Amino acid sequence: MSFYRAYVQRLSKGIHTIPVDLEAIAAANNIFLKEDDSEGYSGMLLVVNDMALISLKSSIRESTRKRFTIAHEMGHFTLPDHLTKDKNSFQCSDGDLNNFGRNKNKESEANLFAAELLMPDDLFRKKVMLSDPSKELAYSLAKEFDTSLTATCIRLINFKADYALICSENSRVKWFYKGEQFPYYLGTDIGSPLHPSSYASVLFKTGRTAEEFYDVPTETWIDDHRFKKSASLLEMTFGLPGYNQALSFLYVDNNSNEDDEDDEDGYGVGLTGYPSFR
Ligand SMILES: [Zn+2]
Repeated sequence: MSFYRAYVQRLSKGIHTIPVDLEAIAAANNIFLKEDDSEGYSGMLLVVNDMALISLKSSIRESTRKRFTIAHEMGHFTLPDHLTKDKNSFQCSDGDLNNFGRNKNKESEANLFAAELLMPDDLFRKKVMLSDPSKELAYSLAKEFDTSLTATCIRLINFKADYALICSENSRVKWFYKGEQFPYYLGTDIGSPLHPSSYASVLFKTGRTAEEFYDVPTETWIDDHRFKKSASLLEMTFGLPGYNQALSFLYVDNNSNEDDEDDEDGYGVGLTGYPSFR
């Protein structure tokens, strides 16, 4: 059992519905939930004696983001060494809630806990094992687990470790998250403009999505001399409704140019109107 799974089970006390019933779990742990107008944080945890309070910024629009924020604060409540005798509260910003860095700190730990609480390893794994990442899969998982598309796609990368995920906003890279087996360096920096050859860039310019994986030139996303000539870089991109954001999945097909002589002819099928990238 994973580290996070063990602590999730300690908190959830046998409550195993999907979507996860956070109110029931809060009640079972003497945690009170409330919303307030604070602009100082997105989520807050305060523990006094045996009583805990999780407070959410009331202006968070989506219920899925509220759920993730509650789950994150429950992480601070549950994980070892988060609450100490000198620290009985956390105030967490949007940045903290988006921190999925591989470098361990308390914020990224609370996010990993939240992902495990809301999208339990065993159930999620079963749902994704036989499928490649797709917009349909992301939407159906987000609906089933009552999680945001973004959190769902990040969780997908935990199980599809040879993929990378990039979130862009207003034609710029907002963040990226590589699976542990994605083999190459990305040539993108946070805040940098999207490469014009990317389907993400096309989406911002034309509103068109690329909801299957299509070839893009390597330099669109990758800056790594180890990239093999025989390999192809594939991108799938869809937009996030209500935000000016796109999610792009990347995958490297290491054999595509060796065994598929018709590759160039088949390029871009079904995407009439797209610019030619070669
Ligand atoms: Zn936090």
